[in-house]
Amino acid sequence: MTKTIPAEVVEHLRNAVRVAVLTGAGVSAESGLPTFRQAQTGLWSHYDPTELATPEAFLRNPRLVWDWYAYRRRMAREAHPNPAHYALVTLEQHAANFTLITQNIDGLHRRAGSQSILELHGNLERIRRFDSGTDVETWDDDGQTPPRCPQTGELLRPSVVWFGEALPQQELRMAYSVAEQSDLFLAVGTSALVQPAASLPLIAKRAGAYVIEINPEETSLSVIADCCFRGKAGVVLPILVRQAFGETEEAVG
Ligand code: NAD
Repeated sequence: MTKTIPAEVVEHLRNAVRVAVLTGAGVSAESGLPTFRQAQTGLWSHYDPTELATPEAFLRNPRLVWDWYAYRRRMAREAHPNPAHYALVTLEQHAANFTLITQNIDGLHRRAGSQSILELHGNLERIRRFDSGTDVETWDDDGQTPPRCPQTGELLRPSVVWFGEALPQQELRMAYSVAEQSDLFLAVGTSALVQPAASLPLIAKRAGAYVIEINPEETSLSVIADCCFRGKAGVVLPILVRQAFGETEEAVG
């Protein structure tokens, strides 16, 4: 990392009463899960993820989209939380009031031990019926791709938010409220291109929060952030937590 930690950042980390964190795919990059802007690998290298993650793509070719998510589910299960996920667990333990808002669907924050999580884009492990949108409790791989609901016959799909779809309203309302009330807001590993998540740091900033961005690349948030760290989340976050609280969680797999 190219920057020493300004004293005011340490002060904000220590003294903030309401801490909100927004994470994006960059937080899981060091766990080996590619972001949408990184080249996909193997079989999937010829596909543009933003063109697979849509209801239209599913209707056009349900098998292709189901298989892509099955592949991503397998990758997420095989991945391990990285030092960024663990540093956020430590931050939560030190904050009086803490909410982690994530756009990630890989479940790694929960596996690391974070407690207060708002999943804005769903979770790879949940499956729902395509037409009615209701979640299924359990589902069997019945040999068909994608499988169908045994009760209604509807096609099953991952319970994630695709491009062009609405976010879960309750989570979104809570995220807006958390952003508005926060006094410290961290945006970590998000390109800030996908709305409405990208507006959360702006809402926090307008309401008076101190905003920190952690991302190796500049984004549209960089101009409004009070402090930007141009580094990897798995490097920067443990340093911030160590400087503020003198400890980091050890990775336990
Ligand atoms: P994005 O792919 O648009 O952007 C990722 C950002 O992370 C980029 O700005 C990049 O510079 C940054 N980045 C890359 N490596 C990093 C690192 N080591 N540390 C910190 N930052 C790093 O992702 P997004 O903003 O989350 O939005 C796109 C959509 O992608 C979301 O809807 C999300 O659900 C989905 N997505 C999720 C996963 C996942 O769950 N792991 C993976 C890919 C995409």
